[in-house]
Amino acid sequence: MADYDYDLFVIGAGSGGTRAARVSAAHGAKVAVAEEYRVGGTCVIRGCVPKKLLVYGAHFAEDLRDAKKFGWNVPDPLEFSWPTLRDNVLAEVDRLNAAYTQTLTNHGVEIINARAEVTGPHSLRLSDGREVTAETILVAVGAHPAIPDVEGKEFGITSNEAFNLDAVPRRILIAGAGYIANEFAGIFHQFGAHVTLMNRTQDILRGYDLQIRDRLLQISMMKGLDFRFDATFEKIVRDDDGCLTVHMSGHEPITVDMVMFATGRVPNTRGLGLESAGVELDDTGAIRVDEDNRSSCPSIYAVGDVTNRVQLTPVAIREGQAFADTKYGNKPTRVDYNCIPSAVFSHPPLAGVGLTESQARQKLGSVKVYSSDFRPMKNVLAGRQERALYKMVCDGETDRVVGIHMIGPDAPEILQAAAVAVKAGLTKADFDATVALHPSMAEELVLLR
Ligand code: NDP
Repeated sequence: MADYDYDLFVIGAGSGGTRAARVSAAHGAKVAVAEEYRVGGTCVIRGCVPKKLLVYGAHFAEDLRDAKKFGWNVPDPLEFSWPTLRDNVLAEVDRLNAAYTQTLTNHGVEIINARAEVTGPHSLRLSDGREVTAETILVAVGAHPAIPDVEGKEFGITSNEAFNLDAVPRRILIAGAGYIANEFAGIFHQFGAHVTLMNRTQDILRGYDLQIRDRLLQISMMKGLDFRFDATFEKIVRDDDGCLTVHMSGHEPITVDMVMFATGRVPNTRGLGLESAGVELDDTGAIRVDEDNRSSCPSIYAVGDVTNRVQLTPVAIREGQAFADTKYGNKPTRVDYNCIPSAVFSHPPLAGVGLTESQARQKLGSVKVYSSDFRPMKNVLAGRQERALYKMVCDGETDRVVGIHMIGPDAPEILQAAAVAVKAGLTKADFDATVALHPSMAEELVLLR
């Protein structure tokens, strides 16, 4: 057998790479992981974690206003310090970065702070000049924000930069209407910015249940967010005073202080040397892998966003775990991609699992839909008009719940528990047989008629 420097060389210390490296090492493999930026990856450093903390921070804008109706004396106007929140969030990111680093080190994984490029099926070149070999290479390099090819694109930012801003812009245009666009629209709006979302179609959050996303659209408009639909960029011009004027098809130009691109994410495969090992990519640039995360080169595997299967952290973690258990743990495991719950941390948040109503109608034909459209108790007392909407989609023949979709306060927290029932194949009757936990919003799930 050839003599390699490592059993496993992981490129990228994000969610998938870190899990794969740590578990493989625990199974006895000699592992190194190369990271060109910071251990933790997108989710921890400039994604899910800091974003969620900003969402918490943003929520106080409404909570403090509502608090008055609950008897609290709150100063008017409210004062918000972006530098305080930003610096606290960045400090938490530093703490997590250190914790991730420590965990890898504790498991005997060698961390190499360098960029690694593949030079062959078992070889890599590091940006510090070293050449190393490994029996197996795992590519877990994630993805980066896609930036539309428009004149003036250099004036825009992406979610990468959003966490380090000097100040909250007074007016921001966010391009895209997916996860990142809707989450940051809520964040910036709550911090006092005027937000305009611009999208190439009329659909926000494609893939989620139509009624749920319509509800978000309606509430967002009620809160004062603007939408420009069926719009494509023509150019972005920076004026003498530093403002940006965005020209787009079908609409008048708009002048803002900041433009943010949230138009999807592209796998980080460029310049990685994958062609030297015959690793096949699909037309989005993602690494093609089989059910065991193996690429077209037998010694090279890939997990996470770089494979563009489901761009979600918990999925990347499962893929990393499955890879490590299969390869080094003598426990062949494959990720089950069925019924993956997901959420958008918009204001209010929404979440879903399983088939949407239209997917179920296409797939099953006979479908029963139960819903509850209600004003959460807390909103009633606060005088807040926002209504929550819960939907349960059932197979008309078997009564089995095939999807649950909801928008309203704490929807992601509630949906995670409901997703267990959907995954387990429970029926509407099983939900009905469960006594309501009163008074809660979640009780609507067992009271749907
Ligand atoms: P999304 O795929 O969610 O949304 C992209 C948006 O940009 C869509 O509205 C899309 O329109 C539009 N778009 C795509 N390409 C272009 C283009 N060339 N020109 C103009 N508009 C375009 O991507 P995000 O960037 O918001 O997020 C990336 C991924 O990160 C998500 O898919 C998600 O998996 C993950 N993520 C998950 C989060 C969570 O779990 N809460 C939070 C943030 C990110 P159209 O619908 O017409 O295609």
